[in-house]
Amino acid sequence: MTKNRVPIPSDLSAEVMFSSDRTCCVCRERGKATQIHHIDEDPSNNKLENLSLLCLECHNDTQLKGGVGRKLNAPLVIKYRDEWMERVSERRKIADERAVSRQVGDVSISQQIETQVSRPHLPVELKDPPMDYINSLPEFKQALLSQAQPKWDTGLTATMVQANYDYIDSLTGVLVTLSNYYSPAQFGEQSAQKYFSEIISSRFQWHRTISEPHGPGTGGTIVNVTVGGSVMSDLEKMVEDMVMALVDYDDSFDWRGWPKRWRGNKI
Ligand SMILES: [Zn+2]
Repeated sequence: MTKNRVPIPSDLSAEVMFSSDRTCCVCRERGKATQIHHIDEDPSNNKLENLSLLCLECHNDTQLKGGVGRKLNAPLVIKYRDEWMERVSERRKIADERAVSRQVGDVSISQQIETQVSRPHLPVELKDPPMDYINSLPEFKQALLSQAQPKWDTGLTATMVQANYDYIDSLTGVLVTLSNYYSPAQFGEQSAQKYFSEIISSRFQWHRTISEPHGPGTGGTIVNVTVGGSVMSDLEKMVEDMVMALVDYDDSFDWRGWPKRWRGNKI
């Protein structure tokens, strides 16, 4: 059987990348170089259900023909892929909800944000930045850090990595929420969620790349923890930059106090 490679249409590959969070669905280590894998190994079969995102190592495992147990076979890839995509979408939902429902005690703002999240392209006139929400963010960050601390204290790589990812997801939710106060034109034709997903994956790639001067995989599993930590700092800076840009010349904003409170909570 001849297998003709047919280029994957760009909207389809974008869909696979986004729904997998640009992360290999098998090992799920963020920041690794990935490629789209044809599950049935027919490179002309570009149906969505035949595509999955794998890192180069996991892709090699699909090529192993040794013992039955060793090969990462098609049904297994499908199982990993479906479970991973489900988790990515669930994670995004939770992070958004958490970020939006942050303003306890001020239901009106929470509702206002929810409305805008559900129809991000509607507002033509820009809304005022949500000052109560912005002022509550340092406290929100502190709560997230307190949640993560016991997990970091375990010293277990997998647990620490997960704590980092949870934190990153939550700050992504904040960025997405803040983006609703920008003109929709600022984030191009894609949703803010996709916009940030791209930036964050490229930060993961950057930090992983510079962490392993001797090549992929040479840094050991601890790299997953340190890379996540570096991306966390990037996101903290992004939130700060966005807040500063949004409040603009608002006189009621505590220009000196807010950044102090935000940064002071840093671990
Ligand atoms: Zn992998």
